[in-house]
Amino acid sequence: MLLQVNNLVVNYGVINAVKGVSFDINEGEIVSLIGANGAGKSTILKTISGLLKPKSGKIIYHNKEIQAQKAPKVVAEGISQVPEGRHIFSGLSVMENLQMGSFLVKDRSRIKQTFNEVFERFPILKQRQNQDAATLSGGEQQMLAMGRALMANPKLILLDEPSMGLAPIFINEIFDIIKEINKQGTTVLLIEQNAKKALSIADRGYVLSTGKVQLAGTGEELLANEEVQKAYLGG
Ligand code: ATP
Repeated sequence: MLLQVNNLVVNYGVINAVKGVSFDINEGEIVSLIGANGAGKSTILKTISGLLKPKSGKIIYHNKEIQAQKAPKVVAEGISQVPEGRHIFSGLSVMENLQMGSFLVKDRSRIKQTFNEVFERFPILKQRQNQDAATLSGGEQQMLAMGRALMANPKLILLDEPSMGLAPIFINEIFDIIKEINKQGTTVLLIEQNAKKALSIADRGYVLSTGKVQLAGTGEELLANEEVQKAYLGG
């Protein structure tokens, strides 16, 4: 098992956003968390990446508790997050944005190799490497945010709503890219409001509602589940 989340409770002041959530991710899997707005999905991701501290519960990564670690340490240990809304650094070039992702990597030849891999996976980023990142389209910015996360050589990548606000053609491309990244060895935790797409590429999924896990199963099982269809797939 690569990551285990045990009875996680996260509060914002008096607001109890995550109410005892448990789930796990095996090495090599794509696991998806789905659920309505406000279900607690982003809060869980931010807690795994060390941006928020849980009130209680454990996050175990490679058999080690990480819930008290700060974000840079979590990244250095191999977990990178692609935030909701992408958070590209505008005013910096595509190349500079990617460099920010390798901030904690010391080995220069490794950085060079990763640059080549990222440019190979996202040829559009290579073409636009000297352009201000703010001039990229939404889909290209999503690719840049993913490329930036990959620059840290993560073992586990956390994707928060990668398809949000994108044109359908880009949505398909982004999901194809997620599958490819996974095939090449990166484990994926994917949060999506596009539940159909997310479950169709996920090995397993968890359905969250108001801060709790309501259902768990393989991607196929959840896609076929009547409750899931009614609530999240417009069926
Ligand atoms: P979305 O897709 O809208 O981001 P989500 O499932 O990711 O939804 P969260 O963003 O994790 O849900 O929010 C969970 C709960 O915590 C919601 O009730 C939300 O209003 C609340 N919440 C989120 N961020 C904050 C914050 N910074 N301060 C106070 N409450 C917050």
